[in-house]
Amino acid sequence: MTNDLFGGLMKGLGSFMPKDDPNVKLFQTQSEISELKNRELQLYAEIGKKAYPELKDQAVYADLVTELNFIQKKLSTVQEDLQAARNIKSEQEQQEQEQLKARTCPNCDTLNPEGVKFCQECGAKLNLSTKVKCLECGAVFPIGTRFCGECGRQL
Ligand SMILES: [Zn+2]
Ligand SMILES: [Zn+2]
Repeated sequence: MTNDLFGGLMKGLGSFMPKDDPNVKLFQTQSEISELKNRELQLYAEIGKKAYPELKDQAVYADLVTELNFIQKKLSTVQEDLQAARNIKSEQEQQEQEQLKARTCPNCDTLNPEGVKFCQECGAKLNLSTKVKCLECGAVFPIGTRFCGECGRQL
């Protein structure tokens, strides 16, 4: 399949690169070598995965098994960090949306600047939120509170 694709590519390039051009041969052999090496690595990995349960207790693999365990632990830690960061980001976006909504006049739809209590366009009272939610633990405090009383995070 790959060879057909490659053949097609080479045919396409035929008018630029004659078949006996050493550059063609160079390109062809180098691509083939890197393809074969990739496949070789994949096969090693497959063999390793299948053999791992039987071989992991043998002393000769001890270093590799130790590192593999370390890498797997690290991976799950980083995946948890990623998820936590995603959660905080979406909470922040949600809070920003809510603030935008709160600053939008219920009467005339004008978006007012921060800190404004009445619409600058029509004088209607804005539905400002009086609570702020901790992004870490979800506890709710009066607006203006600087640190979460539950977990100490800056609000
Ligand atoms: Zn208004
Ligand atoms: Zn908190």
